[in-house]
Amino acid sequence: MKYAIIVPDGCADEPQESLDGRTPLEAARVPAMDAIATAGVVGRANNVPEQLPPGSDVANLSLLGYNPLEHYTGRAPLEAVAQGIELGPDDWAIRCNLVTIEDQVMRDFTAGHISTAEAAELMKAAQEELGSEQSGFDQLEFHPGVSYRNLLVYRASGGEVPFSVDTRTTPPHDLTDRSVLDDYPRGPGSDTLNQLMSDSIDLFAGHPVNATRLERGKLPATNFWLWGQGSMPKHAPFAERFAKRGAMITAVDLLRGLAILVGWSRIEVPGATGYTDTDYAAKGRHAIRALDDVDLIFVHVEATDEASHEGDVAAKIKALEEIDRHIVGPVHEYLKSQGDYRIMVTPAHPTLIRTKTHAHGFVPLAIAGSGITPDRASTYDDPTSRKSELVFEEGWRVMPYFVDSG
Ligand SMILES: [Zn+2]
Repeated sequence: MKYAIIVPDGCADEPQESLDGRTPLEAARVPAMDAIATAGVVGRANNVPEQLPPGSDVANLSLLGYNPLEHYTGRAPLEAVAQGIELGPDDWAIRCNLVTIEDQVMRDFTAGHISTAEAAELMKAAQEELGSEQSGFDQLEFHPGVSYRNLLVYRASGGEVPFSVDTRTTPPHDLTDRSVLDDYPRGPGSDTLNQLMSDSIDLFAGHPVNATRLERGKLPATNFWLWGQGSMPKHAPFAERFAKRGAMITAVDLLRGLAILVGWSRIEVPGATGYTDTDYAAKGRHAIRALDDVDLIFVHVEATDEASHEGDVAAKIKALEEIDRHIVGPVHEYLKSQGDYRIMVTPAHPTLIRTKTHAHGFVPLAIAGSGITPDRASTYDDPTSRKSELVFEEGWRVMPYFVDSG
């Protein structure tokens, strides 16, 4: 049996006034998704428990069949893994954003979209001054990433790590134009995090990178802001848990990190951009090719999510139609020609045009293939899923349902 999961990220949404009260999925012409609904079942799943943020990391971990309440440890370790940084079982990874804070207000969580080269220089200075033996913190590793998104790794090195699941930090993008005074790290190990953040102010103030930025009228990186901390997640690989070999197609690092963590291969598709200009057809072709080697292919498409973040309903509909025509249709046709199969279409979380951001709540899913008895649904969309009796209050239970061949 072969399996395909196609994920139009963030496609679930509310009825839109501009669409005469229809949701983007209802308004989009998606005959291949509707064909899955007709041949199979439509239901709904909630991938993000109330107490966790509705991020792509939590929601997709759930979609992969892992209970995020048990297995989610934070965003930074996933990013570390995606960047090829090895984490030991007791090491912690922490997001180290370069930010601009003025008078204790978060002026810009990207430090004026600081360049990767500039960020690398500041991370190097941090490593030399704050993460050296002389500083007493030789277990610290500052890893430059892309632009303002950098990582700090705290190596346990056989000793104690001061952080725990009770350590609290705040994502800097939640603080834009707000006072940061009440949002410094709290709880276990927060002394260390606050000390480092404070040290970074002195270190960066006189740094040539900032001098040049100021001369050119750009925002300086006044500090780094530490958040998203977590230890290496510990869970059984997907192949052990579900007895299937999987592969992931995505242009997003967080998803690559998740794939690595569950032991899937990653397929890099030329022309995949993580944006609405992605090469949809190339993703479809690579998905079909991958099915020769693995049991399950997971195709994640970020375009629908990006369009939602921009509040662009027309772009969201267009992206859905491209996914339908170039990925869902061809992959389903191929599977049908090969024997036993199952196919599922579902986003991991809603991303609302109204708020331009992710939301908690149910997402619609459609599943068809061998052993799936069709229900009465004939379209794949949000209202149809709300009428269904196929409900997964805990979204991580969808995967066992989907791959159960019995
Ligand atoms: Zn998003």
